[in-house]
Amino acid sequence: MNKFEFSGQAIYQVAVVSPLRRLFDYLPPARHTGELSPGTRVTVPFGTRTVTGLVVRVQSESSQPASKLKPITAVLDDGPLLSAPLTDLLMWAANYYHSPPGEALGAALPTVLRGGGTLPGEKFWRLSTLGHGLPEGALQRAPRQAALLAILQQGEISHQDLLDLGFKNVHLKALADKALIEHYRRVHDDGATGAGPAPCRVTEGEALLREAPLTLSPDQLRALDAISLDRYQCLLLGGETGSGKTEVYLQAIEKVLSQSRQALVLVPEIGLTPQTLARFARRFCRDIAVLHSGLTDQQRLRNWSAARSGSADIVIGTRSAVFTPLPKPGIIIVDEEHDLSFKQQEGGFRYSARDVAIMRARREGIPVLLGSATPSLESLYNCEQGRFRHLKLIGRHGGARQPDWTLVDIRKLRLNTGFSGAAIEAMSSALTAGHQVLVFLNRRGYAPTLLCHDCGWSAECERCDARLTYHQQSTCLRCHHCGYRRSIPVSCEVCGSKQLLQLGQGTQRGESTLAALFPDTPVIRIDRDSTRTKFAMQDYMTEINTGKPCILVGTQMLAKGHHFPHITLVVVLDADNGLFSPDFRATERFGQLLTQVAGRAGRGDHPGHVLIQSHHCDHPLLNLLARGQYSQFAKHLMTQRQLSGMPPTAHLALIRAEAATARDAEHLLGDTRQFCQQAIAASAAIRYLGPFPAPLERRNRRYRYHLSIVSGERPALHYLLDQVSRWLEAEKRAHKVRWSIDVDPGDMS
Ligand code: ADP
Ligand code: ZN
Ligand code: ZN
Repeated sequence: MNKFEFSGQAIYQVAVVSPLRRLFDYLPPARHTGELSPGTRVTVPFGTRTVTGLVVRVQSESSQPASKLKPITAVLDDGPLLSAPLTDLLMWAANYYHSPPGEALGAALPTVLRGGGTLPGEKFWRLSTLGHGLPEGALQRAPRQAALLAILQQGEISHQDLLDLGFKNVHLKALADKALIEHYRRVHDDGATGAGPAPCRVTEGEALLREAPLTLSPDQLRALDAISLDRYQCLLLGGETGSGKTEVYLQAIEKVLSQSRQALVLVPEIGLTPQTLARFARRFCRDIAVLHSGLTDQQRLRNWSAARSGSADIVIGTRSAVFTPLPKPGIIIVDEEHDLSFKQQEGGFRYSARDVAIMRARREGIPVLLGSATPSLESLYNCEQGRFRHLKLIGRHGGARQPDWTLVDIRKLRLNTGFSGAAIEAMSSALTAGHQVLVFLNRRGYAPTLLCHDCGWSAECERCDARLTYHQQSTCLRCHHCGYRRSIPVSCEVCGSKQLLQLGQGTQRGESTLAALFPDTPVIRIDRDSTRTKFAMQDYMTEINTGKPCILVGTQMLAKGHHFPHITLVVVLDADNGLFSPDFRATERFGQLLTQVAGRAGRGDHPGHVLIQSHHCDHPLLNLLARGQYSQFAKHLMTQRQLSGMPPTAHLALIRAEAATARDAEHLLGDTRQFCQQAIAASAAIRYLGPFPAPLERRNRRYRYHLSIVSGERPALHYLLDQVSRWLEAEKRAHKVRWSIDVDPGDMS
């Protein structure tokens, strides 16, 4: 490509929100002296609009001649909003996931800042390191600057106060241009960045802890000692639920805070419960900034800024918090690292927060700690390969024992709306003993199918290849894939028969069956429908925490985050779905879910019991799980993946396409495959799977196709994806066919 030299003039490469996978070149703004640093927000002309962008790089050449370049319209920040290394990390991620840089920017910045808004807080000025080195009475030749310097030598002062004292912006700018002074934003926070009690106001050297740490077990101590804070390393901390992983996090964070550095803790969407937050707030006398999707734009901005200014020492957040600016990072912790919610599954920037966290730690030279009772095969493989270090906590704390497991063979058994006699008996005796019971059922709604007994017709979504779920409470049929709903038919739409059967088990049906079986016991249903309102989950938790006998029935929402100390029995109604699925990761996820659900049993003083109903009680994988041998289970899966050449032993990218007709979607991917085969030598170790119809071929009236690209070598795969994304971007059919690239996909749907 042609390069045009711009001697003596800076060319700014700017990331702009646009679907294109490239940066755009701009000339310096008309009225601005000094060079803009990477990470500074600007507004730039883009097509017919003016948009917000981020300076990514400064260079002295462009692929465009000067006549084609436009100047930056305005500079939004006085200094970089994101540090150069963070800007760099973001662009690395955009590149690795083959997404438009602007989309990555969208994930990293709070909405207010993305829209061009300003940081909260009052602007303050202080001496820079260089300024501190100046003697008193310096700069005598510029009296106003000397006076300004003298004031700042007395201490920090707000911008407004300086203006009130008669100083002008030019004086400030003059000193700032000499790098003698700098400004920052002081957030007048009311201590409410996070949750729990207000932090104790601390100054350097004052108490760090609000409560004494626990005395660590030898395992925990070994794990803590393995973490060295002054270099990059990736540690996988294994240990079942209740084994004391969180206590290790807390004590590692304590070490980090005592060095006046910050800790970043990433948790799954569902794991950020008030209980989790309260535990951190109870331990530390420090500000905690919380970042999750439930915050308002203003709350998010304020907490993000507190992390950025360094006033919050601990940041706890979900996926996108991995990009939070931290002036003095000390450790990154990823709790429940196997959780699928760390992978962005939609939009143009499908990143894995866990993997970005590892890259970030590597670039910052700090440790990253991944914790899980059920580690992902990816992380286990990295341990095998010597890239991560595997630490294990054995057993549970407080003498709580491993739960007992029972597999109930339900072949030919008469079931009471899904429940076997053995399950009902076990529940009844747990409740009589004054304990709580958890029933796990991974389907919401009442019944997943409405079927005609006479002709076999079933109610299907008119927009998707999917059956409609019968919802009793809202008396309608609903599609869980596209949101379509319709009234419940009174008769079969094919033969007119009134014999319509509600088949299968959803949580609503589980709830009503249980209420009929145990009329004197409260039944609490927990799923996406029942927890839609803001305080619903909190209200349920209050009821559950009374410890009175009750039955919890719910979906995978019950498997994570919350602790239920009074539950002694977990019933899994149907274990079969997870064992047979077209998604090559489904079995892994099923094992994780089952192990996590089982981990809810017997955390208090009573041992737990897990009862699993299945038609495949002799399935070897199910039996490994039932013996609590998740790591054996994972080994078994690893061998399968190795044999089939799938991740983590190979690298995978998934190209998805969807269109109004199946033909358009399939053709585009067919041509994509052909393009790939021409673009890269056949000798490169690349395999193609597809184009195939997606597991749900039609969703919301669009036909969906997949092309998987697998390679043993990451560089070859990335080289290819680079070519493909350019080719697809230029592809004329793109207006008819929506496509996306998913590197290291988590979910194959
Ligand atoms: P995990 O994060 O692995 O689920 P936790 O750290 O939450 O485990 O520990 C489970 C329970 O055991 C908690 O109530 C915790 O307070 C307690 N615990 C953890 N470590 C210790 C320890 N060293 N001594 C006593 N109790 C501990
Ligand atoms: Zn019919
Ligand atoms: Zn639908």
